[in-house]
Amino acid sequence: MKTPDFHIHSCFSPDSTMRPAEAVEAAIKSGITDMCFTEHMDLGHHIDSFNRIPHFDEMYASICDLRCQYPNINIHCGIEAGYISQTAKQTAQVLSQQNFDYVLLSTHCVDGLDCYLPESKRGRDKITAYTRYLETLYDSISDTYLLNHYDCIGHIGYIAKCRYYEDNTMPYELFPKLFDAILSLIIKNEKGIEVNTSGIKRAGHVLPHPSVIQRYYELGGRIITIGSDAHTPDRVGANVADTIALIKNCGFKEFTVFNRRVPEYCSII
Ligand SMILES: [Zn+2]
Ligand SMILES: [Zn+2]
Repeated sequence: MKTPDFHIHSCFSPDSTMRPAEAVEAAIKSGITDMCFTEHMDLGHHIDSFNRIPHFDEMYASICDLRCQYPNINIHCGIEAGYISQTAKQTAQVLSQQNFDYVLLSTHCVDGLDCYLPESKRGRDKITAYTRYLETLYDSISDTYLLNHYDCIGHIGYIAKCRYYEDNTMPYELFPKLFDAILSLIIKNEKGIEVNTSGIKRAGHVLPHPSVIQRYYELGGRIITIGSDAHTPDRVGANVADTIALIKNCGFKEFTVFNRRVPEYCSII
């Protein structure tokens, strides 16, 4: 059976110093068979280092070298594009000129601030802040510029990683209507969701919450990827095996990897 990690950052992202070769070695060590680099590109982000186009040529060259150096692991080249409505057209233009294996579309910023930062919650109760996050996420999926340029929606529930409220979890039951609207639109658009294991430590659950993954399955969603969101070698492949078991428990018989933006369904044994 394949074991994926489809969300890894390296020093081509502004918030990681991990060398790509270190990431590959860490992936091999944790039994990963298919890995995907998903470097940040958050055009319009209020933090300057995120608001830039990555060095694509250097990224591609580095992945090419790694594929020769490590032939026993499948190394995919992806990107994590941040959604900001004002820059969606520009983001779509950049993405349309590249040949990624996989494009994740992630909502990091809500009303001008990255919702990982506590100041983005100031003056807002949990329901208000989380509702604004989900509304922005819905806007990202409805965006017509981006529609043909991504494959999966990254870490639904990212806002829960910020430990600001006493209970920061984000289960389906808190926002059933919004979650249904989001998941139904993802399915209608023939896109997928990512299950991001980095939430376990900070949000108390994978992202999205298992109850949201269950609902996605019930509504007919079948495209589902798994990623650690590692920025350091020790996080590569973290909790992937448990997450495969979790999605199996929700009913999934397959998870997805992407090659040149085409989904490949891998059976869960
Ligand atoms: Zn992200
Ligand atoms: Zn990420």
